[in-house]
Amino acid sequence: MSRADPKQTVTRFAPSPTGRLHLGHAYSALHASESARDVGGRFLLRIEDIDRTRCRPEFEAGIYEDLAWLGLEWETPVRRQSDHMADYAAALDRLQTLDVVYPCFCTRRDIQREIERAGGAPHGREGPLYPGTCRHLSAGERQARIAAGEAHAFRLNAAAAAEMTGPLIFADRARGQVDVDPNVLGDVVLARKDIGTSYHIAVTVDDARQGITCVTRGEDLLEATHVHRQLQALLGLPAPDYAHHRLLVDADGKRFAKRDKAVTIQSQREDGQSADAVRAAAGF
Ligand code: GLU
Repeated sequence: MSRADPKQTVTRFAPSPTGRLHLGHAYSALHASESARDVGGRFLLRIEDIDRTRCRPEFEAGIYEDLAWLGLEWETPVRRQSDHMADYAAALDRLQTLDVVYPCFCTRRDIQREIERAGGAPHGREGPLYPGTCRHLSAGERQARIAAGEAHAFRLNAAAAAEMTGPLIFADRARGQVDVDPNVLGDVVLARKDIGTSYHIAVTVDDARQGITCVTRGEDLLEATHVHRQLQALLGLPAPDYAHHRLLVDADGKRFAKRDKAVTIQSQREDGQSADAVRAAAGF
């Protein structure tokens, strides 16, 4: 799993252009870029913009502006996910061929009602897990509802996927070998109704396409990595190492968020802070 030659290390920073970057992003980007630089490896930037309703060109421009101001250098061309939707569709097709995904016609309300009827559902960190309603539909019913034009997502059949892959592990720089828990996010959505793909598919395909050897990102995405490792196994993609880093918090112990305008890199720059001071505040 680990590459013998550290010079072959390829890391990345993969922000979504849904707002201006804040100190937490600076920390993640610097973490990835410095860990590549330390070993003579490569640092890539990727724009994660599959959700066209939330992403804006001015935020993408802001990402380049802020990272350059912080002194980061990345390789070009930058991979922009919205240019590669066909790659994600092909990955979903492959998963359909393997019979580890199923169409889900549920609305949020349907899911809520089903959970209430069943007296609660197991919880992942992001809320209750999907109760599996559409997993039980017959092939005929699925076809008929799709043919009738009913809106649907596609979900991973986590149990079927686990049976196909067998036990899996991933290597985390801080945590060592981590056993994959195939149920950590349950039957997670792999293709949203509105955009036909998901963060999980896009990130897994792209990390492989870009030859990433060490995925550097915040520990809020640790659970997602369990899903990504399963997708790698199912899609025959290489397994990179992971460096899930801690999340920076503000003076009140709260995570930085894009909605807190006061802590964006842009506002710190406009307040007259130097790039060195902002790097130092991020611990670099
Ligand atoms: N695009 C994701 C975000 O901005 C990060 C994806 C990742 O690092 O895997 O939260």
